[in-house]
Amino acid sequence: MARIADLLAAERTFSFEFFPPKTDAAQLTLGHTIAELEPLAPSFVSVTYGAGGSTRARTHDVVAWVRKETAITPMAHLTCQGHVRSEIGEILDNYREAGVENILALGGDAPLDPADARPSDYAYAIELVADVRAAGEFSVGVAAHPEIHPRSPSRDDDRRRLAEKLAVADFAITQFFFEVEHYLRLMDELAALGCTKPVVAGIMPVTNRAQVQRMASLSGAAFPAWLAARLDAVETPEDVRRVGVDAATELCADLLAAGAPGLHFYTLNRSTATREIYAALGLPV
Ligand code: FAD
Repeated sequence: MARIADLLAAERTFSFEFFPPKTDAAQLTLGHTIAELEPLAPSFVSVTYGAGGSTRARTHDVVAWVRKETAITPMAHLTCQGHVRSEIGEILDNYREAGVENILALGGDAPLDPADARPSDYAYAIELVADVRAAGEFSVGVAAHPEIHPRSPSRDDDRRRLAEKLAVADFAITQFFFEVEHYLRLMDELAALGCTKPVVAGIMPVTNRAQVQRMASLSGAAFPAWLAARLDAVETPEDVRRVGVDAATELCADLLAAGAPGLHFYTLNRSTATREIYAALGLPV
């Protein structure tokens, strides 16, 4: 097991993201996916957290299972909006006791219906970073938004807040994006603010156009016209997946050529697209 800050200092990382399954069948799928991806020797895998704590136990269980039952280093996502400090302290104590060394400290999003809001001691991820630091020897990552977070009032403000957050964290992982220019511009803007912490690029292969387009519009990522046109030119779900994998492979190649310190694949709990991209990039499979 390892701290991700140390992994990034030593070499380029390749990592996979999962979400905690809701049903027994989905759990079997995830187990199968992890078994198929383990031979790729990922640097680490991460497990998402339902904002406000909706997957609190399930996220913990998957992360602790990966830590105990596999040779892979896990990272737990943790969002702070909708949590009070004592809850966060308890969650971090449980991870420390399970031997988990990496936390992705996130703001999260308020519930759509204000009636579902829970008491919260936190407004922004940077406040959680401070508490994770105080709770132990965790390596701490944060989120970056190459195309600007949808709630940011301006590009300058987004970058300034991100640089402040990265100054107290170890690394960032980006929201997904489809064109390398977004990543390069983000890195230039952070460098201009004196920030040189590693920023791992988040990769979302399009395997289901409607699903990814919906996720892109929620996260503020542009779905480029050239990608839409390439997808429009094919008909079967299998061809859509092939176009999506090709586009993601081209993006990964550009990012590797540009010196990105790591690639983080949003797997949606499936292994095929990631394995195909690995093979196309000539990475060991
Ligand atoms: P913050 O850093 O708090 O930023 C949110 C907004 O507030 C930005 O506009 C920022 O500029 C602004 N801001 C920050 N600090 C301040 C300040 N001090 N004063 C004023 N404004 C400020 N969501 C989940 O629910 N579960 C997950 O597991 C999850 N995993 C993710 C993984 C990655 C790699 C990424 C990129 C996102 C993930 N998200 C997840 C989504 C994330 O929770 C949302 O994007 C959320 O809206 C913002 O999170 P953040 O950590 O960037 O928040």
